[in-house]
Amino acid sequence: MAGGYMGKLLFVDLTTGKIKEETPGESLYRDFIGGYGIGARILYSRQKAGADPLGPENTLGLITGPLTGTPATFGCRWVAVSKSPLTGGWGDSNCGGYFGPYLKFAGYDGVFISGVSAKPVYLLIDNGKAVIKDGSHLWGKNTLETEETLEAEYGPEARAICIGPAGERVARLACIINNRHDTAGRAGMGAVMGSKRLKAVVARGNMKVPLADPGAADMLRKEHIAEGKEWFARFGIYGTASHAADSAHSGDSPVKNWGGVGAIEMPDNSGLNKEIVRAYVDKRGGCWHCPSACKATLKMGPPEFPYPVGAQRPEYESTAAFGAMCLVTDYHAIILANHLCNLYGLDTISTGTAIGFAMECFEYGIITKKDTGGIELTWGNAEAIPAMVEKIARREDIGDALADGVRITAEKIGRGAEKYAVHIGGQELGLHDPKSGGFMVYRGKPMMAMYQMDATPGRHTTGFGPPQFMGYVLNAAGVCLHSNIGITDPHKYLAGFLSAVTGYRRSISELEKAGERIGNMRHVFSLREGDVPIKRFVHPRIAGRPPFKEGPLAGVTVDMEAQAY
Ligand code: SF4
Repeated sequence: MAGGYMGKLLFVDLTTGKIKEETPGESLYRDFIGGYGIGARILYSRQKAGADPLGPENTLGLITGPLTGTPATFGCRWVAVSKSPLTGGWGDSNCGGYFGPYLKFAGYDGVFISGVSAKPVYLLIDNGKAVIKDGSHLWGKNTLETEETLEAEYGPEARAICIGPAGERVARLACIINNRHDTAGRAGMGAVMGSKRLKAVVARGNMKVPLADPGAADMLRKEHIAEGKEWFARFGIYGTASHAADSAHSGDSPVKNWGGVGAIEMPDNSGLNKEIVRAYVDKRGGCWHCPSACKATLKMGPPEFPYPVGAQRPEYESTAAFGAMCLVTDYHAIILANHLCNLYGLDTISTGTAIGFAMECFEYGIITKKDTGGIELTWGNAEAIPAMVEKIARREDIGDALADGVRITAEKIGRGAEKYAVHIGGQELGLHDPKSGGFMVYRGKPMMAMYQMDATPGRHTTGFGPPQFMGYVLNAAGVCLHSNIGITDPHKYLAGFLSAVTGYRRSISELEKAGERIGNMRHVFSLREGDVPIKRFVHPRIAGRPPFKEGPLAGVTVDMEAQAY
C-alpha cells in the first residue's frame, strides 16, 4: 500500500447496527486519490439511483485525503459526501479543523454511513475499533455543548464532528461542525446526518500515517512555508474577510440579494473594514498544523449583539452573506449571526442568502410581519439578521420554510416569490459574483467564477477543464485551497507532496487526468440522478439578465451557455 493511506474504510449501517471494515484495492486510491474522489466512486457503485436524500438508502461519506494528517502543508482537510437534499444530485462539502487527521490516527481513510437509526446515536471510532453509541444525552444540545460533552467523555485527544439543532430538525441548510466553528457547510450534509439520527462521529487514536519519503516531505514543507510566508501571515492576521468592504463596492460581492449595486445601496461600507474586525480579535487559531492559521476568536460583543468571548471571526462568505446581501454593515450583527449558525449548525452562505431573499419578499409584500413573527425584515436592519437565524434554526414562522433553502421556500409560499429566489439547481451560491471576473486566478490569469459547472452547483470554480482538474486533485488530496495563495507554482508543491507522501511518482498531466476522472465521477453520479449541469436552473440575476445599469458591473452579462459548453 502506498504511503499517506491507512488502507481501511469503514461501512456503518445505522438501521441494522452492522459495522464492516474493508481494505480497498490499491487502484481505488491511485485512480481516485481520496476525499470526494473516493467518495464519488464508492457512492456511484454502491448506492442505488433514486435514493431519497433524507432516507435510509442515502449514504453519508466522511473521507480524508492522502495528505491529511501528514507533514504536507495545509494537510488537514476532509470531505463530507452524499446525495444532496438541496439539489437531488451529487453533494460534497470540504472542511478543515482537526477531525480529518484524527480519523486517520484512529485507523481509517474514510467512513460511509447508511441507514437510519431508531433513536439518536453517535459513532465512536477509537484506535481501529468502531461502535455505535446511544446519543440521547446529546440530542437537543447545540454544537458547542455537544463537543464539550464528548471531550469530557473521551478526553482532549478525541475530535468530533456533530450536528446542531438545525440538523436534528433536518433543515436542508444544516451543516456539520467540527472544532467549534469549522464547517462542512454546503449541500445539506447536516440534514443528511440529522435524517439518520446521527448526532456525532468521534475519532480518537494514535496511529501514524505512513510516509513514503518523510525527508522529502519535510524539506518541501519548509520550502512551501518560506515561499508563502508573507501571504500566509496576512491571511492569519486579517482572516479571509479582509476584502469584504472592498468586495462590497467592487462588484465582487453580490449585493441586496444579487439585485443591487454596493456603492449605491450601501455607500458607507466602513463597518466591514478589515482593521475594525482586527480590533475585535481575542485569540488567533487555525486548523491542524496550519502555517497560516487564518481563524480567530473574538472579544465579547456589545449588549445589542451579545456574542460571547470565543465567538468566531466570520469568514468572507459569511460576512458577505449577512452583510452586503442584506445591506447590513454592522459587523457585530454579522458576528452574532455567524456565531448562532455555528451553534445551531447552519450553513452561513445559504442562511444569509435565505434572509436576503426573505427581505426582498418582505419589501414586495409577499411576506409580512405575520410571517416573520413580528420581525421588521427591512433591508439593512442589523437586529433582524440574528433574529432570523434563530427563526430558521428553530423552524419558526417563515423560518420553517427558509430552513430548506430559497427554492423550496418560493415553491411553498408562491405569490411570485420564485422571482427573488437566487439559486443554481436548488443551492444558494458562494459569494463571488461571476460577472465581476478576476476572483479566480489560474497560473496568473484571472478567470470568471463559474457556478453551474461543478457537480455541487453554486460553488465557484474555474469551470470544467485542466485548471479545475488540479483543483479536484487538491481537494481530494486533503489540502486547503489557501495553500496556493501567493505561490508562483502551486502545482509543484501539490505534486511534490503527493509524490513524497504516497510514493506514486506522477507528472502534472497524469495528476490532471486523475482530477478529470474525479470530476467526471462526481458528475456521473448527478447525471444518473437526473441532475444535468447544462440544464440546471440558473437565476437570471447571476448571469446579469438584464444587466445592471449602474456600478462596476453595468452592462455585464455572463455567457452561461458558453461556460456550460
Ligand atoms: S488557511 Fe485557514 S482554513 Fe486553511 S487550513 Fe489554515 S486555518 Fe484552516
